[in-house]
Amino acid sequence: MELAGVGIDLGGTSIKMGVVTPEGEVIARNEFATPDGPARPAVAELARQVRQLINSTGLPAERIGSVGVGTPGILDPQKGIVRSASNLVGWVDVPLGDWLADALGRKTKVINDAHAAVMGEIRFGTARGIRDLVLLTLGTGVGGAVVVAGQVVVGNRGLAGELGHMRIEMSRPRPCGCGLFGCLEAYAGAKNILKRMHEALADDIQEISLLKEKSKTAPLTVEDLFWAANEGDGIMLGLVDETALALAAGIANLLHALNPKAVVLAGGVSRSPLLVEKVREYLPDLVLNPAYLEDFRLETSGLGPDAGLLGAAAAAMGLSG
Ligand SMILES: [Zn+2]
Repeated sequence: MELAGVGIDLGGTSIKMGVVTPEGEVIARNEFATPDGPARPAVAELARQVRQLINSTGLPAERIGSVGVGTPGILDPQKGIVRSASNLVGWVDVPLGDWLADALGRKTKVINDAHAAVMGEIRFGTARGIRDLVLLTLGTGVGGAVVVAGQVVVGNRGLAGELGHMRIEMSRPRPCGCGLFGCLEAYAGAKNILKRMHEALADDIQEISLLKEKSKTAPLTVEDLFWAANEGDGIMLGLVDETALALAAGIANLLHALNPKAVVLAGGVSRSPLLVEKVREYLPDLVLNPAYLEDFRLETSGLGPDAGLLGAAAAAMGLSG
């Protein structure tokens, strides 16, 4: 019997991997910088690290089963091919699944990173047992995944789940990193929140923000914003409020389209209880009918940065039954 699977969260800057039990316990883990350069040697290094990780458990290698990889970019999940990924320079039509399977002699499953994270939440996290849910990842950008009747929605060309780019503002919309305007990400992604924060501080001619001094000497983070808002800083409270309203508008759109049982917020921006509370307060005014919110849960991820590798491992263990 297999005791565990391997989950890999392949990111643009770092790769996290873990040997995970069917109960979601990470019994060995490793994290290292994503190798630069061509895909082939990068995948060979990935395979070497997986072998080393498996050895480090002290378990017989045959008791550890398949390998799951959550990866950014556009994929062909059936064939395990990474078509393109803006965060992985030079990765074009990379048969990641085959290369890893050949190098490791193990079945390998390649899935989209947001799909991996939502599978982590369903199998091991706050969304256990929920069959209709949406994951919104609020990191540098905003991403997500939609699950309907227990299945991750991939769409016609595998492009479903770009929740950060639903349009929430039509009049005087802010530019988004994607080239469009008025996207949710332009308001609720950390990069754009920081941009708005600097604009607000530049307008703050009376120097009343608690962050005004710090902004002159050190780079500010969203954690600074949430801290200052919690201290009652009016400018930062205004930004949290604006972010909450944008998120609530996006979530209301999702509620109307999908009527999920839960929306799970993940990523650094979701770690502010003040922000999440404000989203909850705005929602009733934005939904068509109170019934959307009956029996509905707005949750934050309990898995944190492990969601991706846990979900990738869950996908791998699904392979081996
Ligand atoms: Zn966008």
